Amino acid sequence: MTDVFADLVGQDEAVVTLRRAAASAAALLRAAAPAVSRTGAPAAGGADPDGGHDDLDALAEQVDGPGAADDRPGADPGAGMTHAWIFTGPPGSGRSVAARAFAAALQCIHGTGCGHCPGCHTTLAGTHADVRLVVPEGLSIGVNEMRALVLRAASTPSGGRWQIVIIEDADRLTEAAGNALLKAIEEPPPRTVFLLCAPSTHPDDISVTIRSRCRVVPLRQPSAGAVAEVLVRRDAIAPDVAEWAAAAAQGHVGRARRLARDPEARQRRDAVLAVPRRLTGVGAAFDAASALIEAAEAEAAASVAEVDEAERAALQTALGAGGTGRGAAGAMRGAAGQLKDLEKRQKSRATRAQRDALDRALVDLAGFYRDALTMALRAPVAPVHTDTAALAGAGAQKWDADGALRRLEAVLECRAAIEANVKPRIAVEAMMLALWKG
Ligand SMILES: [Zn+2]
Repeated sequence: MTDVFADLVGQDEAVVTLRRAAASAAALLRAAAPAVSRTGAPAAGGADPDGGHDDLDALAEQVDGPGAADDRPGADPGAGMTHAWIFTGPPGSGRSVAARAFAAALQCIHGTGCGHCPGCHTTLAGTHADVRLVVPEGLSIGVNEMRALVLRAASTPSGGRWQIVIIEDADRLTEAAGNALLKAIEEPPPRTVFLLCAPSTHPDDISVTIRSRCRVVPLRQPSAGAVAEVLVRRDAIAPDVAEWAAAAAQGHVGRARRLARDPEARQRRDAVLAVPRRLTGVGAAFDAASALIEAAEAEAAASVAEVDEAERAALQTALGAGGTGRGAAGAMRGAAGQLKDLEKRQKSRATRAQRDALDRALVDLAGFYRDALTMALRAPVAPVHTDTAALAGAGAQKWDADGALRRLEAVLECRAAIEANVKPRIAVEAMMLALWKG
């Protein structure tokens, strides 16, 4: 039997915090509606007539017990819970997995995140009426989207528990959107919970004022061993494949799973790891840059094409294309504007997808030069890419630690430049030249 936190790989401390918060939240609901929890029928669902309130009683005792409320011992039963949270950690550490699991635990009719009740199921499946997920498709989350969201989040939860808003990549909020969110966090509606995900609490990622009103749940990069274990257990991947993929993905669970399962992802990685071998001169460096950029573009185009087409068709239907009903003529007014809006959003999403694809390639490439560096230093560290370890070893001999480090830095500088909006082709060409020259 596994509960909603089972998929949080290697995050024991965070899980303890979240379990405690969910128990506090359940105690708060119980205190607010004693009639409901005492009569035996849970407020929502009612799928568990006998177990429900016993669980809540037990949890409330835990919460009330000495030392249970982490930061304020002896404080009120809700001390472990708060209305705004930030999940931080490197990409792939499971920020959004943690946020969703916590949301499920809050909506769980047992208040624990049992993983089996309707509250848990619908939250994890993304169909719970009181859980809203914001996944930025473009480069930023705009103010209009955020305002609409904040408004809806202020309504009373239909399931009688919590209104939850999960914002993935909260670091991509525009300033105006951040301000709209801040207002809601400063004056929170009584049953609304905001769960933000961001790489860190650095002011570049999340504004200081938002940060000051949230509780932070830091996630760490899971070890390759922990990632491999979950691939074997949950995805039934063969242990040797799981170990290879977990190492190659450098702690990124989703990436490890893709490498283990998707032959195209493996081919793309192979192509990236062939780059160091191909850098034989200036011309070759420019060719390698073009190949890398074009591969990222192709990967991104394939990933958005289907959604783009479906959205376009849906919008045209909604606008009454070919319709003859009374509404059709009216709906066509402004249709051009809506189509233009959609195209703008799709373009922004495509740009994001290209950058994400390119970034994955750069992370793979950085892993190769890191391997060369650790080998040159004779550090007792397992290589990231076991399948190119021999090549990295040859590089280590040829370049020495200094040369390997300079090349690793060139890759990291390229990532930083693209993040700072340097045109990808320019950044990648500069990197390839640096990798060739050393
Ligand atoms: Zn449940």
